[in-house]
Amino acid sequence: MTALFEHDLARLREAHLLRHRRQVSPLIAPAELAPSQEALRATTYLIDGKPRLSFGSNDYLGLSQHPAVMAAAHEAIARYGVGATASPLVCGHSPAHEQLEAALAAFTGLPRALYFYAGYAANVGLVPALVGKGDAVFSDALNHACLIDGIRLSRAELNVVPHGDLQALEAALQASTARRKLVVTDAVFSMDGNVADVPALMALCERFDAWLLIDDAHGFGVLGEHGEGTLSHFGMVGRGGVAPAWQGRMDRLIYMATLGKAAGVAGAFVAGEASMVEWVLQKARTYMFATAAPAMIAAALQASVQALQDEAWRRDHLRVLRERLRAGIVSAGLPWTLMPSETAIQPLVIGRNEDALAVMAALDAQGVWVPAIRPPTVPEGTARLRISLSAAHTVEQIDQLLAALVQAAV
Ligand SMILES: *Cc1c(COP(=O)(O)O)cnc(C)c1O
Repeated sequence: MTALFEHDLARLREAHLLRHRRQVSPLIAPAELAPSQEALRATTYLIDGKPRLSFGSNDYLGLSQHPAVMAAAHEAIARYGVGATASPLVCGHSPAHEQLEAALAAFTGLPRALYFYAGYAANVGLVPALVGKGDAVFSDALNHACLIDGIRLSRAELNVVPHGDLQALEAALQASTARRKLVVTDAVFSMDGNVADVPALMALCERFDAWLLIDDAHGFGVLGEHGEGTLSHFGMVGRGGVAPAWQGRMDRLIYMATLGKAAGVAGAFVAGEASMVEWVLQKARTYMFATAAPAMIAAALQASVQALQDEAWRRDHLRVLRERLRAGIVSAGLPWTLMPSETAIQPLVIGRNEDALAVMAALDAQGVWVPAIRPPTVPEGTARLRISLSAAHTVEQIDQLLAALVQAAV
């Protein structure tokens, strides 16, 4: 056994695909925290003991270090204790969970929401609850791993659609004779940062009587006027609920978003038509057979979902940072390809695995942490730096990243 695994690990190492974890903690301890240092705490870390300016997290709004979010978790611990003790269907569902679900439904403008302890678990449970043998799934080639795993578990027929190719999707839907058809897509693609054309996908789903599942892990909090996510970005929902043009047309939509990224805490939710959500509650095995997230997490999320609505400056500032970074990379004439992206994810494609690792190391030597992303997370030959911006970054920190990139390119 040892020889087998050592042989396989050596092959990963040779292909520059071996990963290793770093030990990461905020540079500034909460006891020393002045209010002005809240942002610094969400961007500067001790990584393996060394201080680093980080562009690696998905904490797009800096809410993981928000004082009100941390306080809500503390209060909930005092009230509920730490563990949820059981599945939500046994006795793990608290008033904090119930209130969070109501808040998420109201905020996204959808009839009902169901909270899951993790996004991965949500997708792996959700897809098999929706479709099975005899049904067909149409999945964008760049969809997240957990959607793919959910599809595999469902045993529905899988049709992989080339990334963003609406014509190919149309042809595949037209050719299908399946009983139920489910189109599945990331709303914002996690390693590219681009946004799926959700209205066009909905129109195709209407034409071919298919359902549409969108995974808004990277849009929720970041896109939309108040951070409601990709549906609001396209004007499909607003503060008062579903927009007039989309009224009566949302029944075929299954919305899913995660809460460990822009919301800064953990978990995910599925939202949409009330009886669909009730069905998922009854059937998703990752919901039924897993211990609920602690109530303190649900309480922290209520505070963070409130903060992301109230503090619009976070999205405004993120936009300023993004434009500065993009303009700076273009004018520096770096030898790498910056992908088009209107989100917090700014991928700089380098190509070969070892080159991406070398650039990452050159940045690291300058105190700047940007993760290199390699296959199988991204397609072969497109290893990249996934620069991830946060509203907690300052303009000066963007300039520091730009200077480090220029240095790494020589
Ligand atoms: C991160 C991510 C998930 C998984 O969510 P977790 O809460 O981290 O388990 C699902 N889908 C997409 C697109 C993601 O980026």
